[in-house]
Amino acid sequence: MAAVNLPSITTLISHSSSLLYPPKPPNSTPSVSFHKTPLPIFSNHTKTPQLHPSKNTKDYCNLLHLSVEHGYIELAMAVHASILKIQANSPYLSNALIVAYFKLGLTSHAYKVFNCLENPDVVTFTAMISWFARSNREIEAIKLFFEMRRLGIEPNEYSFVAILTACAWVLNLELGSQVHCLAIKMGFLGETYVSNALMGFYSKCGYLDCVLEVFDEMFQRDISSWNTVITALVKSSMYEKALQLFRGFLQTDEHRIDHFTLSTLLTACTEYAAFMEGRELHGHALKLGLENNLSVGNALIGFYTKFRSLKYVVGLFDRMAVKDVITWTQMISVYMESGLLEMAEKVFDKMPEKNCVSYNALLAGFCQNGVGSRALGMFCRMLEQGVELDDFSLTSIINACGLLRDKKTSEQIHGFILKFGFGSNDRIESALLDMCTKCGRMADAEKMFHSQSISHDNSIIWTSMICGYGRIGQPYEALSLFFKSQSENTITIDEIVSTTVLGICSTVGFDRVGEQIHCTALKSGLIDDIGVGNALIGMYSKCGNMMASIKIFNLMKKHDIVSWNSLMAGYVFHRQGDKALDLWAAMKEAKIQPDSITTLLIISAYTHTTLNMVNECHRFFHSMKTTYNIEPISDHYASLVGVFGRWGLLEQAEEIINKMPFEPDPFVWRALLDSCKTHMNTIIGERAAKEIIAKKPNDPSTYILISNLYSASGRWQCSETMREEMREKGFQKRPGKSWIIHENKVHSFYARDKSHPRSKDIYSGQDILVLECLKAGYMPDTSFVLHEVEEHHKRDFLYYHSAKLAVTYGLLTSRRGTPVRVMKNILLCGDCHTFFKYVSIVTKREIHIRDASGFHCFVNGECTCKGK
Ligand SMILES: [Zn+2]
Ligand SMILES: [Zn+2]
Repeated sequence: MAAVNLPSITTLISHSSSLLYPPKPPNSTPSVSFHKTPLPIFSNHTKTPQLHPSKNTKDYCNLLHLSVEHGYIELAMAVHASILKIQANSPYLSNALIVAYFKLGLTSHAYKVFNCLENPDVVTFTAMISWFARSNREIEAIKLFFEMRRLGIEPNEYSFVAILTACAWVLNLELGSQVHCLAIKMGFLGETYVSNALMGFYSKCGYLDCVLEVFDEMFQRDISSWNTVITALVKSSMYEKALQLFRGFLQTDEHRIDHFTLSTLLTACTEYAAFMEGRELHGHALKLGLENNLSVGNALIGFYTKFRSLKYVVGLFDRMAVKDVITWTQMISVYMESGLLEMAEKVFDKMPEKNCVSYNALLAGFCQNGVGSRALGMFCRMLEQGVELDDFSLTSIINACGLLRDKKTSEQIHGFILKFGFGSNDRIESALLDMCTKCGRMADAEKMFHSQSISHDNSIIWTSMICGYGRIGQPYEALSLFFKSQSENTITIDEIVSTTVLGICSTVGFDRVGEQIHCTALKSGLIDDIGVGNALIGMYSKCGNMMASIKIFNLMKKHDIVSWNSLMAGYVFHRQGDKALDLWAAMKEAKIQPDSITTLLIISAYTHTTLNMVNECHRFFHSMKTTYNIEPISDHYASLVGVFGRWGLLEQAEEIINKMPFEPDPFVWRALLDSCKTHMNTIIGERAAKEIIAKKPNDPSTYILISNLYSASGRWQCSETMREEMREKGFQKRPGKSWIIHENKVHSFYARDKSHPRSKDIYSGQDILVLECLKAGYMPDTSFVLHEVEEHHKRDFLYYHSAKLAVTYGLLTSRRGTPVRVMKNILLCGDCHTFFKYVSIVTKREIHIRDASGFHCFVNGECTCKGK
């Protein structure tokens, strides 16, 4: 709580005077439950100074001590009976009896003794008040304090400590400041105990200024005065001031610094990432011989863990003579965070005493490191050993199932959790839902999501559902849920939601939504998250806005390899090979070590360079292993073959495949086959086709490609055999789908699709467009249509390809002069490609088509892909 704008002590005091005058009974006091700290004064103030106890009294007291020490209730009661019998009416004895009863937990007995007293004195009252103050009965403590005042009994310093403690626990600022006044009036402020209690009281109420004022005015300070003020500062996030004060403390009274001072400040340095200051504290700990203290050692381990100084942590751990469960558990977490699973497990096995928290640390660590199976094994061990399970263990094991992506295991764990009745807990329920989305149980997740029992204010379940739809390839469901969550204000847009939705926007090409996320990220500061930055680069480039991608990249404060790869992928997708290679040059300059994906992108970039750079590409390919220690895999070979094929070097491309150190997979041959199709080389194409067919691919597009290659060279019979084979195998051509975004809605089209509400307009528009293009010289290429169809039908088939319908819809609905942007799930066919060149001439519009290979931007009869 900040201390600004709160009244100062003087204002508080001037308004609180009732305790200074004959007191009235208190009004009802607000009761707030509070964590308790033990009162240090309780046992000190039971000795009364005024009476010299007789020998009898001493014996009774000794007996009472014994009964408390051994929890021997009967003995205390016998002493009580005996006192009553001999009518030893000493206040000293009564006080001892009251304290003994309290300590034995017999509050009502203590009360009875108290009520029978004719003239209870300040010691008796104080004993009662402090007992109530620390037993969750603050109101009774306060009432007794007023009663004492009413009887005209002057409080002593311990009464002040007790009443201030009660006030702190109920956060009764008014009463507390009245007590403060009274303490001033009676001259008790000079007592260190009283001032300490006052500081503790103001600190708990959040009045830091008052704490500091009391501290400044103290005549004498003890260690707990310093600790109280330092804790108050740390609590108010003013760790710098706390350290400053600590340095003052060092100068005045270094030897009194204790483990509490150091561990409080170390925890603050950990929280505020103050490395140098924490090191300084470590230095003091060493100097004062406190490094080995349990709480200081634990705080130091926490501190070095934060800064990932594993070496220090291990050293500290080894040096610590006394370790508790916290020390051991911290050590497990440290190793887990560093990915040293075996070491963590070793520490766990060595632990003399394990509890639920230590088991959980191991369980969570396995999840954190992505090894769901080991987490599952650990969970079974916990069950076998009868370890108590809490929410944390259960959410961890649910997360582990999510990592495993295994439907059956997830069902078993789900059943176990429901059986043991943990399902109604919000945290667990949302973890279960998330697990379902990850384990192919979207229907179960939907059921849970729509059930009444789950809390829909919980942002996590919305996030899980959106990510779940994204994961199973249902981008529209994901987006519509995202819109709904936004309009109902049920989602917190964090880095997970941002990156997921940005990924979906990239797939769909929905840049407007992507821009919205970008704005939100700017406002919330999420923009500094490296993952969000990378997702934005990908989103803008996939939506055709390379400029925005570059801008994001340049504005990012830090880049990781994914950032570089994302930007490079953007250039490759936009077929800007030269720029991709420029980026690679910049990477080398910045001494960035490429990964396997970077090298794959670099090879692909050579497909799109302005000049033939095949030799450079080949050299780079060889340097992968020698310079960057990256072993080329099939993808790299396929890409290299693609580069040679792009420049018409089909023989060399085939030679590369034949010399591969491992069995080439169908995709490598497929790269060659694609090039053969472009360069109309049926001889090599046929060899490639044979190799592919021998490997029995599951991919229908390969059959179609081979069939098309045959039909293009007029070998209809072979072409037909291919199609026949494909049909026999039950493969179906993946339906080509094109879509366009208009007014925040996705409009999708299949070939000859008439389901669109404006399909009449679209078809007549398309007919006019075809006529215009024919006039401008467009020649339909019917080789892209199944040849069993009559020639005039072939044309009909061609004219209504999905991409053509989507482009026509775009032309009809968008403003003049703006580019029409269409997305297609598979490759654009050759006829559509030619057609759009003419469309860009006759309509004087730019047509941007994104297909599976990247962008085609048609401007004035030319495409950026240059036909490759
Ligand atoms: Zn087409
Ligand atoms: Zn093109």
